[in-house]
Formats: sequence, structure tokens, C-alpha cells
Amino acid sequence: MPEPAIFKASRVANPNNDGWLSDHAVITDEAGRIEAVLPSANLGDTSGKRTHDLGDVSLLPGLVEAHSHLHVSPDFDGFANITTETDDRMVMRAVGAARKALLSGVTTMRDIGSRNQVAFPVRDAIEAGVIPGPRLLLAGTPITTTAGHCWMFGTEADTLEDVVKAVRNQVKLGANVIKIMASGGNFTPTSNPRMTQYPAETLRAAVVEAERLGIYVVAHSHATAGIRNCIDAGIHQIIHCRWLSSDPTVAMDYDPEDASRLADEGRWVDPTIGLSVLGAEARAAGAPQRQIHWGVAAARPSPEQTIEVLQDMRARGVRYTTGLDMGMAFADYDKSAYNAISFVESLGYTPWEAVSASTSVTAEALRVDKNAGSLQPGKFADLMSVAGDPSKDIRALAMSADVVKGGVPVKLDGMALI
Ligand SMILES: [Zn+2]
Repeated sequence: MPEPAIFKASRVANPNNDGWLSDHAVITDEAGRIEAVLPSANLGDTSGKRTHDLGDVSLLPGLVEAHSHLHVSPDFDGFANITTETDDRMVMRAVGAARKALLSGVTTMRDIGSRNQVAFPVRDAIEAGVIPGPRLLLAGTPITTTAGHCWMFGTEADTLEDVVKAVRNQVKLGANVIKIMASGGNFTPTSNPRMTQYPAETLRAAVVEAERLGIYVVAHSHATAGIRNCIDAGIHQIIHCRWLSSDPTVAMDYDPEDASRLADEGRWVDPTIGLSVLGAEARAAGAPQRQIHWGVAAARPSPEQTIEVLQDMRARGVRYTTGLDMGMAFADYDKSAYNAISFVESLGYTPWEAVSASTSVTAEALRVDKNAGSLQPGKFADLMSVAGDPSKDIRALAMSADVVKGGVPVKLDGMALI
């Protein structure tokens, strides 16, 4: 249970996540929310509140991670995991993953594709205080075609009517968001990443049904044709967005006008490039190259091509969320900081822009910005600190010193309390 407390630090992120307040303190209430952020020298009567002097650290809002798969772990072959493991084993995996993410500083996490039997009880156990973990927002099973991307843990739905029924069923089970596979994916040999899985009309039906039920739709698409279908359908957020050509001998067919439509219509994109940075680092350290999907083997976009396109999309005003694709190879649950690191090192963000992407901006995309994403009175007292100054070196974000969720410390001075 939260108790009223004071968390002092030499650097505290300002409400806009674009500068420091020096020698400030975050004051929390008995409901685990932020009461005030004040200069440490000016706290007045502090009786009845426990004081935590965190010292020479940078205190930030907890990280917001937009893309995990709780039922798999990055240190195993995900495909083998999913096709051989029992639900019970996957629940255990998910419990460990949730704790790991929280201790790294992630206090809000959206899982966009895990088996229903795994994801929903884990979220509910965290909310009930049975196990530690971030606040979870869940899609449950992704909606895909028969044999389509992630069929092995998805809900297979082929026709427009099947898809509408699948949306309703996920909502009935407890989904906070709908995930649908608009193109094939690299993970699934029986899908084709270059080709669409649904016509725009079917994706549109999913959007209409989700909106009727008060939630939104996140779509996976590598294919340009899938991205176009998503734009035409009014899909709220697109994952990967790699502009793969339907011609297997052509790597990409990026269309800047489509990118401008994404920007103008306020569609969010999760570029999942933190995963690329982690993969490159792992391979430089000797990790084997992953097997390349048959559908893209003939002409793969180079990392430089991909980055150039993502930079152009950003220049056109497309807003990016920080989603690592946790659970996939190299994307471990304590690596969410690699979203911000990759945004600075690959996309040209300033460190503060990357910090706000990892906190307030993605909180807005996840529709939880009233409660999370910045250190402002009334929001959850979800905090993480790091030694050093991430506004000077974004890689400082990778090692949390302190983590507080809902006013309750779960890690102090590098020591896990859970
Ligand atoms: Zn994913």
C-alpha cells in the first residue's frame, strides 16, 4: 500500500519532459499519486511523510513501453516457445518478464499479442497486488488470417464478419486494445511480409467495431500495400511500417505522400528500431544472424534505407511511439531504454525529445496521459531514476537506480525490493 512520501533528487524532470528542475522533490499522497513537485529547500511541514533522499540522480517519469509479448522470452526461440510450451509455463515466463520490466523503470506497458490465458490473468494479478509488474494494457491474442502472421497464438479470422466477431470476443475477455495483422510477418513462415492479409474494408470494420466499444486498433504491417489499407481503414496505430514492396525483387517502395497522410490524419507509428540497434549490437558481439524469411530474402532493405525512410516520415510529421517488440530476439524486458537510445542515435532526436517519446508522448498514444507520462500533480507517482544525466548521454537511461510505482518504491539505490 502506498504511504505519503517525499522523493528528493538533484535533477527532476519538469512537467514537459524537456528540462531539469534542480534539487527538487516529488511529494506523493496515500493514494499513490503525485501531490506536488517542489524545491527540496522549500518543502514546509514534512511530518507524516517518509523522506527518500535519492541523491545525485536524474528523476524521471516511469518509462512507457508500447510493445511487448509477455508470453515469450528473448533468450529462446520464440517460435519454438509458442508452439511447444504449455500456457502454465508461459504464465511463469510472463510473471518474470513483468518484474524485470518494472525493475528497469517501465511502469506502463502495452502487450500487443500474447495468448489470452497468459496475458489477462497476469494483468489482473498485478492490479490485485499479487505479483509485481508495470500497469499493463493488453490486446490478448492478435487477430490474423488462417495460417497468417502469429497464427500460433492469434485468433484466426478470415472474413469481415469473423474479424468483427473476434474484436467483440477480445473485448469480452478483457482487451484494452485490438491488435490485427495487416500484412504477413518475419516470425511466421506461413505468412508473407510483403503481402496484405485483409482488404481495407475488413480493417475498417475492425476499427468501427473497436471504436463502438471504446477502444482502438493497432495493426502490424511490413508491406506498403498493408500500410495503405491501414490508412484507408483509419487504423489508429501502425507497427513496423517498413514499406516492403509486393515485388519480391524490390526491397521497398516508400511513398512520401502516404507518409504525409499518416501525419496529417494523426496516425501513430511504432518504428521498432530499438530492436534493430539491439540486434546489431548482439551480432557485433558474436550472436548468429537470424534466419531470413523466404518472402524478403531476395531483396532486403538495408539498415541505412530503413533509417532514411523513418527520418523522412518524421520530417513529414509522423509521430512515433516507443515500442521495442519485447520478447522477440534480443529485446529483453529490461531494455526499454533502447527505444530512446535508438531514437537519438538513429533518428536524430535530441535526448529530451527521446525522453518525452518514452514517457509523455507514448502515454498519449496509449491514451493514459491523464495518469502517466509526466511528473505532475494528480498523476500516478510512477518514477524512475538513473545515475548520470540522460539529457547529455541518452545511454544513461539504460540502468535504473530507483523505481517507484504508484508511490511504492520497488527499487532503491540499485537494490530490488520486490
Ligand atoms: Zn510485436
